[in-house]
Amino acid sequence: ARDDVHYFGAGPAPLPTPVLEEASKVLLNYKDKGIGICEISHRSPDANEILAQAKAALTNLLDIPDDYDILFLQGGGSGEFSAAVYNLVSIWVEKRRAKAEKELGESVSEGELKAKVLERLRKEVDEELKLDYLVTGSWSLKASQEAARLVGAQHVNVALDARKANGGKFGQIAAESEWNLTPRKQNGGPALVYFCDNETVDGVEFPAFPSSLEGDDAPPVVADMSSNFISRKVDVRKYSVIFGGAQKNIGNTGITIVILRKSLLPPQSTLASPELLRALNLPVGPIVLDWPTIAKNNSLYNTLPIFDVWVAGQVMSGLVQAYGARKIEGQEEISNDKAKMIYETLDKYPNVFRVVPDKSVRSRMNICFRVGGGDAEKEKSFLAGAEKRGLLGLKGHRSVGGIRASNCKLPRHASPHAHYALLLDKYLRTL
Ligand code: PMP
Repeated sequence: ARDDVHYFGAGPAPLPTPVLEEASKVLLNYKDKGIGICEISHRSPDANEILAQAKAALTNLLDIPDDYDILFLQGGGSGEFSAAVYNLVSIWVEKRRAKAEKELGESVSEGELKAKVLERLRKEVDEELKLDYLVTGSWSLKASQEAARLVGAQHVNVALDARKANGGKFGQIAAESEWNLTPRKQNGGPALVYFCDNETVDGVEFPAFPSSLEGDDAPPVVADMSSNFISRKVDVRKYSVIFGGAQKNIGNTGITIVILRKSLLPPQSTLASPELLRALNLPVGPIVLDWPTIAKNNSLYNTLPIFDVWVAGQVMSGLVQAYGARKIEGQEEISNDKAKMIYETLDKYPNVFRVVPDKSVRSRMNICFRVGGGDAEKEKSFLAGAEKRGLLGLKGHRSVGGIRASNCKLPRHASPHAHYALLLDKYLRTL
C-alpha cells in the first residue's frame, strides 16, 4: 500500500497524498458540475481560475515581482533548453538589427538600407553571437548540446566545463575567477548565460547565485530549476528566466513553468522576423515555444493541460498554507535539515559510504553516494536491503551509478515526508 512505500525517485516524484485523493475526485466531477476536470474547456472561467490560482501561489512562494510574467508550457525542461535559445538569440538579433538600422539609416537610401543592415548583421552574428553555458552536470551539458545543435557549436561558449578540473567527472564547481564568460559590452555581450541550479543526476547544486552574473549590465541569465524549484529562497530579480518541469518539485508531468522578466517581451523586446533569421542562417522556433506568443495568450495559445496546472496549484497552495508568512523559508529549512541529516550520517562512516560530489556543491535535493567503494555487489545488496524496508527508487542514474536519494527535493506538506529521510538515516546506520 501507498503508506508502506517510501519512494526516493528523482522525478516523477511522490506527490502529497491529500492532493492525489482530491485529484481522484475532481477527475470524475469538478465542482459538482457532473463533468471531470480533464473534460472542461481550457478556455472556461474555471480553467482561468485554476491558472490564476497556480500563478498566485507561485508568486507568493517566490516573491515574484510585478515586472515578471509566469508562463505554463508543454515540452518539459528539455523544451525550454530549445526555447531559451530560440527566444534569446532572436531578441539579440532584433536588438542588433534596430541599432544597425538606426546607425546606417542616415547615410543610405531606403533601398540600400536593408542590404547594408543584413551585411552588418551577418558579420556580427559570425563574430559576436555567443551563448554562454556553465556545464556543471549532465543537464546543463544537454542544454549546451541543444544550443550547439540549433545555432552551431561555434556560437556556444562553454564558460565552465566542471569535469575538466575533476578527473573528467562532474562533482565540483570551479571558482568563478576560472570561468571564461563572454565579456559584457554595451548593447552586446552574450545572448544568454545559462546554468542548471541543481543537477539531478550528478547531485551538484549551486550554493548561491554566481556573483559574476550580477549587475545592471548583466546579460540575460537563464536558470534551470527543474529539480530544486521552490526549495529555497530565490532573488528572482537576478534572473531573466527561471524554468522547470513540474514533475519533480511542483506537480505531475505535463507542464513546464517559466518565470521571465517582462522586459524580454514586447514592447521592450521583440523577436526578429522569421525572414531575417532565415537570411542569417539562424533557427526559427516553433510557435509553441515562442514566449511572447504564450505570454500574450495567458498560456492559452493552444490547449493547456489544466489538470496538471490544478495539481501544481494544489501543491503550491498547500505550501503557502503550511508555512504562512514564512512561505519559502519553511520549505528551505526542511530541505536543509533532511539533507544535513543524511550527509552527516554518510560522512560519519567513510569506510562504508562515499558522497560523490565535492562538499562545497552537495545538492540538498539529490544525494549521490557510493557504498563499499562502489563495489557492484555491495551496492546491489544495499538496494535490496533498502527495498526490504520499503525504501524504493534509490538506484543512482545509470551514467553515475551508485545510490541516489532524492528525498529532500519535494516541497510538500512536510511531516510524513521528513519521515522518509529518518527511515533512510536509520537504514544507513545499520550498515
Ligand atoms: N533539467 C533538469 C535539472 C532535470 O532534472 C530534467 C529531468 N530529469 C530536465 C531538465 C529535463 O526535463 P524533461 O524531462 O521535463 O524534459
